Amino acid sequence: MNIRKIIIAIDGYSACGKSTTAKETAKILGYKYIDSGAMYRAVTMYFLDHHVAVTNLHEVKKALASIHISFHVNSKNVTETFLNGLNVEEEIRHMRVSEIVSQVSTIKEVRHAMVEQQRKLGKQRGIVMDGRDIGTVVFPDAELKLFMTANILTRAFRRQKELLDRDYLVDLDEVIENITNRDRLDTTRTESPLRKAKDALEIDTTHITIDEQVDEVLRMAVSRMLKN
Ligand code: C5P
Repeated sequence: MNIRKIIIAIDGYSACGKSTTAKETAKILGYKYIDSGAMYRAVTMYFLDHHVAVTNLHEVKKALASIHISFHVNSKNVTETFLNGLNVEEEIRHMRVSEIVSQVSTIKEVRHAMVEQQRKLGKQRGIVMDGRDIGTVVFPDAELKLFMTANILTRAFRRQKELLDRDYLVDLDEVIENITNRDRLDTTRTESPLRKAKDALEIDTTHITIDEQVDEVLRMAVSRMLKN
């Protein structure tokens, strides 16, 4: 049987379950999982820690040259994000990062640097990547493109629970405000705004479980893997 390795691009609004679905799908297929949002978060954390003025292009470029992001799979088979050799998987999820990550993500130079790295990671195919511009900009030739949506309250509850699972209690109103602000910045920015690719399939995750989401993605992935 002729089984080919494909690229699965999952885009959508904040907290729609993209990462959870992508992670689980990659695990089952034996594919690499890349959380592109984690890369923008790591850059943002670096900017915060090094007091990089986001309006100063010279400082931004200098900082980008000093940033190295990598992913490593730990003993529990979980992919973790490393910034210049340090595990930042937990810290990049904190609100101080969430609050300004979408502003940092509007910077053209930041996007170009991240897209270049993301394309390198997908060179061999056999990858599931989630984000905002994966199907439109990073891998316009991805064999499977998905666009995930869900209603705001469902998304906020899910994100709040995710944070709580990491022992991080955040008020629901604060979560809603953060998600809404990030969606607004992500959809209105000039450089690669969040859009559904023309050939992307939409999945509304409001009333379906993670298992159902994964089953749906796997069903679609398998048909693409077998296509000539
Ligand atoms: O996926 P996550 O919500 O962790 O991403 C954090 C932020 O990174 C998003 O709100 C968005 O501003 C930015 N992002 C992006 N392009 C991507 C992935 C994330 O602009 N491909």
